[in-house]
Amino acid sequence: MSSVLHLVRPDIVALAAYQPARWDPALLRLHANEMPLRAEADVSDTALNRYPEPYHETLDRLLADLYGVPADCALATRGSDEAIDLLVRAFCRAGQDSVLVCPPTFAMYETAARIQGAAVVSVPLQHEREWALDAAGVLAQCRSDVKLVFLCTPNNPTGNLLDPDAVLQVARSLTERAVVVVDEAYLEFAGAPSLATRLTDLPNVVLLRTCSKAYALAGARIGTLLAAPEIVDLVRKILPPYAIAQPSIDAAFKVLAPAGLRAAHARIDGVLAERARLAAALEKAPGVLRVWPSATNFLLVELADPARALQQACAAGLLVRDVRSQHQLSRALRITVGTSAQNDRLLEALS
Ligand SMILES: *Cc1c(COP(=O)(O)O)cnc(C)c1O
Repeated sequence: MSSVLHLVRPDIVALAAYQPARWDPALLRLHANEMPLRAEADVSDTALNRYPEPYHETLDRLLADLYGVPADCALATRGSDEAIDLLVRAFCRAGQDSVLVCPPTFAMYETAARIQGAAVVSVPLQHEREWALDAAGVLAQCRSDVKLVFLCTPNNPTGNLLDPDAVLQVARSLTERAVVVVDEAYLEFAGAPSLATRLTDLPNVVLLRTCSKAYALAGARIGTLLAAPEIVDLVRKILPPYAIAQPSIDAAFKVLAPAGLRAAHARIDGVLAERARLAAALEKAPGVLRVWPSATNFLLVELADPARALQQACAAGLLVRDVRSQHQLSRALRITVGTSAQNDRLLEALS
């Protein structure tokens, strides 16, 4: 299998990882300067006076099982936001390297790049082709300084799945040349397969998943990076020790246990039913020009007077996302699918 290590910042390849205090739950801990007793107000499942597992391998195994990859191909991060940041820091030298993004898309890719001092190359999705990926454009613009190509499928905020063949074509054509980061944050709402099953044939692909959306754990901040073991090991090297807080680890084990997963799937089905109902109702609402098809838990809606719709929603106590500053979206708002009562409230506010 080919390697992507030549794309990594050389100083990160050479870096020796920090060695945290040894982790062995069977032994008494007199080595990490923790308080021996828990605080009275600490009512957590697992006492908080002890550090969590330094590199959370137990959580990584749970997530590897959830996403159907080998144990050494998954790494938990504080939300996939942190995975994006770690990837940019590992691969991009400040002032020299670049990332490629396909707007309109999730803004964190560009923000993380700018924080690192990396440049940003943009190859827009094709508006006139229902936001399709411009695979030829991506390959043409992928100069040698582009280290990471971010593809979001289904895409935020447009809501569409990218053609999996186009994604694979980009990934295969860039083997050895760039890492292709495929963000599948909304995949559970799409009824489409993950690229995870193909990961072993795709040495330059990194997948991002998150428990924030489908698994109702946004407050726990648990994302997962899925990739070949050499990439996982590299990113783990720059991950701070004890990154995932113990209450978040405990919450993941509860929510991702079999009963929790059954409940999660029922909740997802509920969102899908509401998505269809809300989309149909919005299409008939006054001032709505277009409701884009969605493979996610939100709808991208174009309006004759988006400022007025924002005001009406706000007056009814509802926040919707203003995406008008994004490429090709000057009349659009992004609306998260809520409960049926919440969606009714929104429809009433706009009518
Ligand atoms: C919400 C979102 C994320 C971030 O998820 P966290 O795991 O909560 O950090 C990543 N990518 C996209 C496209 C998102 O919309």
